[in-house]
Amino acid sequence: MQLAEPQDFERVLSSMCTEPHPAAREAAERFLATNPGDPGTYESVAALEDRAVDLLGEVTGHPDPEGYVASGGTEANIQAVRIARNRADTDDPNVVAPASAHFSFTKAADVLDVEYRTAPTTGHRADPDAMAELVDEDTVCVVGVAGSTEYGYVDPIPELAAIAGEVDALCHVDAAWGGFVLPFTDHEWGFDDADVDTLTIDPHKMGQAAIPAGGLVVRDRSLLDELAIRTPYLESTSQVTLTGTRSGAGVASAVAAMEALWPEGYREQYDRSMDNAEWLADQLAARGHDVVEPDLPLVAADLSVPMTEELRSRGWRVAKTGADEMRVVCMPHVTRSMLRSFVADLDWY
Ligand code: PLP
Repeated sequence: MQLAEPQDFERVLSSMCTEPHPAAREAAERFLATNPGDPGTYESVAALEDRAVDLLGEVTGHPDPEGYVASGGTEANIQAVRIARNRADTDDPNVVAPASAHFSFTKAADVLDVEYRTAPTTGHRADPDAMAELVDEDTVCVVGVAGSTEYGYVDPIPELAAIAGEVDALCHVDAAWGGFVLPFTDHEWGFDDADVDTLTIDPHKMGQAAIPAGGLVVRDRSLLDELAIRTPYLESTSQVTLTGTRSGAGVASAVAAMEALWPEGYREQYDRSMDNAEWLADQLAARGHDVVEPDLPLVAADLSVPMTEELRSRGWRVAKTGADEMRVVCMPHVTRSMLRSFVADLDWY
């Protein structure tokens, strides 16, 4: 059977993933048959994973990071909640997050049997007072989002970390999407900005690595040890990852992308993507749409045109927020000329 062509990116405005950097694509192919889940056998990819974690530490402001390359943000978030639950001394653990947190935390709470409490946001950001109200002595983790899925907004991480500290809970930052643009902003989000314990940052999103390459970075080894499981028949004696066999392609491509782009390439990309987001926001506002002011390169706007189906039939892929706004993610593959033809198509309605 002839395989269908994969989706091309020409009209994709909905995805939080993008075309891998050429070096990342090549590295992924070379390491396709390697398994970092078995580091005793696949030594070179295991060494690459150490390098990946060091680079993720540079990006997130941690001089001595621990962590690993996960399958994506979902796994990293589940593992962060698992660390928090395992280290805490309670029979009735809960996690407190803003309502804007990604749905992977719902999965985490479900599989880990942890109560999940969400606080209403103010202006699309976590409201520290609302978060503090939900925290109690059984809270094991306070979640902050740095680059929210729907609006690309950043929570007040130092304040959330302080709330976590008051009840000896961990502070987890979900920068799965925002992590590779935030270093070029004034936001306080990383290990050097606040008492952050665990952090999700995905090379396969803004990092321009091949899928699957998520990242979990933790403050110190003791946190990672909360995940350790004995592995009697492998050469290594324990494993902290959620999956067993893992993608060496993801690990190698993460390193290749970060070596190629950190920091200057990512900075240039951030500038381009942000310019595009602001341009699109202006264009939509000029047409009378209610636009959520972009903070990171993501534009949400209330569109009155009967949008999705018509746009879809013209090949556009756009997403929606929970409030039914149109959502355009200005990923690296999204160019100004793409956005010009998108706006021209909108004008057609
Ligand atoms: N966290 C945030 C903020 C996200 O935007 C996403 C996905 O878009 C995730 C976590 C989940 O990441 P993944 O789909 O790689 O599991």
